[in-house]
Amino acid sequence: MALNLVMIGPPGAGKGTQAARLRRQHGIPKISTGDMLREAVAAGTPLGVAVRNIIGAGRLVSDEAIIAVVEQRLAKPDVAAGFVLDGFPRTVVQARALDQMLEGRGPLVVVVVDVPEQELVKRLTWRRVCQDCGATFGGVDTPELTGESSAEGAVESGRCRKCGGQLVQRDDDSAAVVRDRLKVFTSQTAPLVDFYRGRPTFSLINGLQGPDQVTADMNRAIDAALAKDSTRNRARA
Ligand SMILES: [Zn+2]
Repeated sequence: MALNLVMIGPPGAGKGTQAARLRRQHGIPKISTGDMLREAVAAGTPLGVAVRNIIGAGRLVSDEAIIAVVEQRLAKPDVAAGFVLDGFPRTVVQARALDQMLEGRGPLVVVVVDVPEQELVKRLTWRRVCQDCGATFGGVDTPELTGESSAEGAVESGRCRKCGGQLVQRDDDSAAVVRDRLKVFTSQTAPLVDFYRGRPTFSLINGLQGPDQVTADMNRAIDAALAKDSTRNRARA
């Protein structure tokens, strides 16, 4: 059965690490609308130009535009066995559109990675980015990090462990900015989580645990969701 997965979680919840593991374990691609839009802007495609103008004007990319991008992506052959969606849907309108796109393609499994705000602020304000190669250190989105001590070591030394470049704090990682970003995320996603919450294929995962435990919980949630869905289909038949 295809594994169609939506992962919802705030910045700093470790979704990047989890998506990479799911890709390895289940052989399904990660689809990040943020990455796709950034690539379109960099490549200067018509979509990229439109997106750059919208963002430059301080507006949000419309539901219609994002839905079209995802619909095109989900039509590609590499998602036949499923996908991990990150950053989409963001709104209930987008969620409804996704349900329509998946008509006849198997169940949609939804996992929310839940991390308290205090912990996210701690993780995000510690994050450093290499000026030269772009590697991130600190936080939990860096797969090669094994624990807090090694992340702190990299941050304290001020040098990139991959290339030796200078580590800097991203402009949007200061505590006040991080709190604002998290508030925006929470107010945006609360209606979305409510939209999915009643479904048998929905799970809430404790993101305060280590990355391995989060992966284990995620796989358990996926197995349970797929089992419930097939039971439901048998009952219906
Ligand atoms: Zn580097």
